[in-house]
Amino acid sequence: MKVTIVCGARPNFVKVAAILAAMAGRPGFRPTLIHTGQHYDENMSEVFFRDLEILPPQVNLGVGSNVDSIQTAEVMCRLVPVLAADRPDVCLVVGDVNSTLAAALTAAKTGIPVAHVEAGLRSFDRTMPEELNRLLTDAIAEYCFTTEPSANDNLHREGVPADRVHHVGNVMIDTLFRFRERAAESTILARSGLTPRAFAVLTLHRRSNVDDEAVLGRLLQLIDSVADGVPVVFPVHPRTRARLEHAERAEWQPRSLRLVSPLPYLDFVQLIANALCVFTDSGGVQEETTALHVPCLTLRRSTERPITVTQGTNRIVGCDAGKIEAAWTEIRNGRWPLGRLPEHWDGKAAERVLDVLADTAR
Ligand code: UDP
Repeated sequence: MKVTIVCGARPNFVKVAAILAAMAGRPGFRPTLIHTGQHYDENMSEVFFRDLEILPPQVNLGVGSNVDSIQTAEVMCRLVPVLAADRPDVCLVVGDVNSTLAAALTAAKTGIPVAHVEAGLRSFDRTMPEELNRLLTDAIAEYCFTTEPSANDNLHREGVPADRVHHVGNVMIDTLFRFRERAAESTILARSGLTPRAFAVLTLHRRSNVDDEAVLGRLLQLIDSVADGVPVVFPVHPRTRARLEHAERAEWQPRSLRLVSPLPYLDFVQLIANALCVFTDSGGVQEETTALHVPCLTLRRSTERPITVTQGTNRIVGCDAGKIEAAWTEIRNGRWPLGRLPEHWDGKAAERVLDVLADTAR
């Protein structure tokens, strides 16, 4: 089976790493990897290929940054000739970034079946660009591979036939478990002068939090004040960095926040695995903290990954000072549930994806 796998952004690399590793052990699969170039900084892209042992992509479309619609259209334009030359049996996409939708739409319009890994997740907030990417990709996918039961329910409600939906588990957690020991060798804690469970981590890159400089500024001050001197390591996403640079330098000196560049995967995993708590608006980080049993406070109004709240270690706190302070106190007092691992978050999700593909190809 010829499978063209398309990736473009940081969270995609973590997911395709699991699929490619599983394919390497299965002689029936011939993967081609296409990088759209949506993320292109060394520390948002190349570093992940190295850390996650992904071979360089066969093609890089080099689309770069742009407003959402143009970036999506650009991926489509550049992908058409590549898919026409390749004629794969399946085009596999992961996650919810612009490259995910662009590749799915191009493949579907070329008559190539689409497999969507991480299908069915819904925040029910259509102002999120990711939500549109999720809805539209699932509407045209032949194979919807899901991470949690809520995703199956959502797809069912949207009228996706049950035989297209496969609850396989979480490929991002496959990668986490595969590299967990390697990550433990990272010297990030010593290099940063951090003691396990005596620091927090913050990641922020959702438009609703970072695009408005005033909102971003308020949120950063809030986290800084809640942490009250406990170090909060903040690897700054390029989108957020751009906003911080445009913002008027605020009249305050952070006591807790420590701004650093986006971290390589192994360093980041070692950091969150040893954190007292993680503040985030990332999708993947909500899942990784659940798998690592580390408290997670999600700085958003909703999550498309509700199992991290009902079974895991996640709580949705938005930008609400009261909720954030109350949660921080519970965490510091050791009163946070450890949670339990959702079904199929066992390191074998990618194998299940391949089982389904192999089965239907027969
Ligand atoms: N990540 C990383 N370094 C960082 C921040 C995040 O390696 O400085 C990893 C994280 O472990 C997860 C992925 O990047 O695997 C999540 O990506 P991101 O938060 O950008 O995307 P989202 O999951 O929100 O779509």
